[in-house]
Amino acid sequence: MQILSVLIQHSKMSLDRTFSYLYDGPEQVVPGCRVLVSFHAQRVMGYVEKVEFSPLSAEELSRINGFDFAFISDLIDKEPLLNEELERLCDEVAEYYLAPKISVLQAMLPASLRPSLSSLRGPKIAYEKWVEILDADETGLTDKQIEALRLVAANGSTLKKEAGTDAIVNALIKKGKIRQFLKEKDRFLIPEYEKEKKPRELTLAQNEAVSTILNSEKDVVLLQGVTGSGKTEVYLKLSEEYLSRGQNILMLVPEISLTPIMVEYFSRRFEGNVAILHSELTPAEKYDEYRRIAKGEARVVVGARSAVFAPLRNIGLIILDEEHVESYKQDNLPYYHAREVAIMRARHFGAKVVLGSATPSFETKARASRGVYGYAALTRRINERALPKTQIIDLRNRSVMMPRDTVFSRILIDAIKQRLERKEQVILLINRRGYSSYVTCANCGHIFTCPSCHGNLTYHREDELLKCHHCGYVVSYPNVCPSCGSEKIMRVGFGTERIVKVLQEYLPSARITRLDGDVGKVRKKVASTLAEFRAQEYDILVGTQMIAKGHDFPNVTLVGLVLADIGLSLPSFRATETTFELITQAVGRSGRGEKVGDALIQSYNPFHYAVTLGAKQDYEAFYVKEMQQRRITKFPPYYYLIALHFSSKDETRCIRASVEFKENLEQKFGNDLICVGPVVPYYAVVGLFHKRSLLIKTKVPATIKPYLADLVHALSGKGGIDIECDVDPLDY
Ligand code: ADP
Ligand code: ZN
Ligand code: ZN
Repeated sequence: MQILSVLIQHSKMSLDRTFSYLYDGPEQVVPGCRVLVSFHAQRVMGYVEKVEFSPLSAEELSRINGFDFAFISDLIDKEPLLNEELERLCDEVAEYYLAPKISVLQAMLPASLRPSLSSLRGPKIAYEKWVEILDADETGLTDKQIEALRLVAANGSTLKKEAGTDAIVNALIKKGKIRQFLKEKDRFLIPEYEKEKKPRELTLAQNEAVSTILNSEKDVVLLQGVTGSGKTEVYLKLSEEYLSRGQNILMLVPEISLTPIMVEYFSRRFEGNVAILHSELTPAEKYDEYRRIAKGEARVVVGARSAVFAPLRNIGLIILDEEHVESYKQDNLPYYHAREVAIMRARHFGAKVVLGSATPSFETKARASRGVYGYAALTRRINERALPKTQIIDLRNRSVMMPRDTVFSRILIDAIKQRLERKEQVILLINRRGYSSYVTCANCGHIFTCPSCHGNLTYHREDELLKCHHCGYVVSYPNVCPSCGSEKIMRVGFGTERIVKVLQEYLPSARITRLDGDVGKVRKKVASTLAEFRAQEYDILVGTQMIAKGHDFPNVTLVGLVLADIGLSLPSFRATETTFELITQAVGRSGRGEKVGDALIQSYNPFHYAVTLGAKQDYEAFYVKEMQQRRITKFPPYYYLIALHFSSKDETRCIRASVEFKENLEQKFGNDLICVGPVVPYYAVVGLFHKRSLLIKTKVPATIKPYLADLVHALSGKGGIDIECDVDPLDY
């Protein structure tokens, strides 16, 4: 009899423990396999954590333990889903992120291999029929059969359908001339790129960065390079070095839209060795790529966030390009950040981690400043290309706007017209995060903020209230502006679609395309839109910040930020940082070719330091100033954050549970932590569930976490309360 300790597929903290099941079939079950079990009379998927053997029967075991053991209903896998390294990583991630282990497994594995029932409907291995030569003797064959036989003989083996018609090929099989066999089919094929003839010569600065990184004693190195400084070449050179040492490379990019271009760079240099993993692949393609990597058939993996879990072995180098981008953090369980996971993996392999960015996250920058991470810099653009000339347009001054328009200033429209005449290209950016509307005075630019925490208030349509997501402050929707008395209160929030429409009216002959979350969802659309824009089939590209990063369009000489500071209004301690980043990155898109570029920044807060320093691309000055804010307000990187999300069908219980939790923590840790809340989150009711959150700020997360984990385990599931932890949340 085998006794299996099984994790259940549900990602609930209260179920984050194993349940025992029996198996007495012919196989020997190994830990790391999936099994089907019955749990509370439901069929669910389970994941085997441990296997013990017992000479006793099911009846005897039940009698001794005092409860009825159930048998599993099916054994799904014969081999463990994860190799040893990834198995250990899974435990480490679960521990660091205070997350149910099963949720980490779901995040790590492609759909078909996940421990969830739906994986049974996921894609399976696809096979193709092939034939191979057995006997090349042509006597007694028809002309057509001879033709087919020669074709197979010439290649040794070939796809059956390519050898000839079914009738001819089957006849040859019958006569023992050839043999049919099944071969795994790769449903995903990286487009064939011509191999690079000779890699570019690195500049002096790039060479220096490469050797600084290679020689650094630190395992993690920040590569801070202004936009257009040639970081990609540095990644490629480093990769070459580690590949020549026989080690493998993990190359992470923040957004799907950036994978095709990075894949092209790597494929052109390292022919045939590259695999891709990102969410735009179909589940079948992803499954095939995953298995190809697991079999050791790729030496470089390029992908977005979840590629950090690629089953690549012998990793020598992990690169995170644009390491500051938020999409590296998963925004649901297990709430992991690819940077943190990359560092965990690198520690296992003794690998190097390179974090590249023009505007590093504060966490990374602070660690590099303190010498925890190594540091390499690229301070100039390639060929000393000038940074674009920037101009900030003050939107509070109504006279600069186009008539009856709240979006476009005359300066911006004129500048676009000028580019169209010169056959140059334009990028227009809006901030996606601005969709969630905030409230401002159209007359004076006053933004409605919370009187106690000074964060901006957000508008909630369902109850016509302005709310502070920080402290729970609410106020009814204002009729007049408290600072100028105007009644022109404006909810800001608009989409790319409307911008394109308005723009087309001003510029009837312009060829405009757009790229944002909606369009981006359509598979392959991103790559083709960007390729068409690069090929100058369009004059203007309108999009969200997704297009602000990474891309290199030599003919773009104007970048317009339609509403640069919309992000400032967001209720997040990182609102200023992300606004600065957006402006810097956007400005960096302009003038990357031979021609000098311009950037126009429309803003309601033209004197805010995020806007002025962003326009100047002065990261260091911004860093110093914003760090003072973080210290005063006790936010990262001075403090670590852990958010706790409570949910229950009963609102009172939800509140009580969170209050008691807070009291418990404060009693236990006193001054070692600050606990804010309970806060009413933006989505306060989801389905039948009421939500409340606590925010823990601490300088000693390692001291607090074990106790927190125990407490969450003990309380989650009790009295209809469920608790989720978000370690290192980005929004708060
Ligand atoms: P970053 O990622 O730092 O913004 P990129 O890697 O996109 O910069 O490089 C900017 C531009 O400089 C690209 O057009 C790239 O082809 C070019 N470039 C990079 N390295 C070199 C080099 N050593 N010699 C000539 N051009 C280069
Ligand atoms: Zn006003
Ligand atoms: Zn407040």
